[in-house]
Amino acid sequence: MKEEDFSRLKEKMAIAITILTYELADMWGHVSVRGPDSKHFLLRHLRPPGDESVPPDDVLEFDLGGKRTSGRRERPDEIFFYVCPYRVKKEVGSVIHCHPPMALALTAAGQKIIPIHQDSVNFGKHVPVAPWLYGYWRDHGEKAVKLMGDNCALMIMGHGALVVGKTIEEACMNMVHLERTAKMILQARGSAKLRSISPSVAKRLLSVAGSGAKETRRERRSGGPALLEWSYYESMVKRGERWSRL
Ligand SMILES: [Zn+2]
Repeated sequence: MKEEDFSRLKEKMAIAITILTYELADMWGHVSVRGPDSKHFLLRHLRPPGDESVPPDDVLEFDLGGKRTSGRRERPDEIFFYVCPYRVKKEVGSVIHCHPPMALALTAAGQKIIPIHQDSVNFGKHVPVAPWLYGYWRDHGEKAVKLMGDNCALMIMGHGALVVGKTIEEACMNMVHLERTAKMILQARGSAKLRSISPSVAKRLLSVAGSGAKETRRERRSGGPALLEWSYYESMVKRGERWSRL
């Protein structure tokens, strides 16, 4: 991978890690992004296991068979949560696996994450739910991809969430919105019958969202409104701001 590409992706991964650590208030999981040659992907732990001989920002590179081709740290247990989506879904440019606590609480209560507001319309009718899976095993990775289908997210019972995006910006925002939507549902469900945004409204919104801002037109195809939100967070991270959504 060219040094320039590597540096650019490495910086985005670092920003995604900061956003997710603060937004999810949880240290577990990984961010990954497909490399420019499509045959490799880069991966970093949100918070890597302690090993003083390896720098915390060590980036691992894997081929689509799950073989480490660069980086010093051992491969994570759940490598097949990454290998399988990249192999099957050619349009996927980023895969993220985390353990968003409120989304998990909602799933444990037997509730689905439904699109109750504009920022959750990417989740379609609802986010599919898988039984407990662990990406250590290839068949669990394959099952996750199958159950996710065309959705950009999958909840895994008693474990966490898997999201994908065309870009790392999009995947990161999908994870943020998954957790935020779950929190909103948990707040609202005791007092009222929840209503989703209708499919026709969602379709209408998605056909125009982001098009009003001149500078985003060029990037709509690759990132859409997620890029605007990513830019907001990116500026906070670069200013060194800290926050918590606990
Ligand atoms: Zn996990």
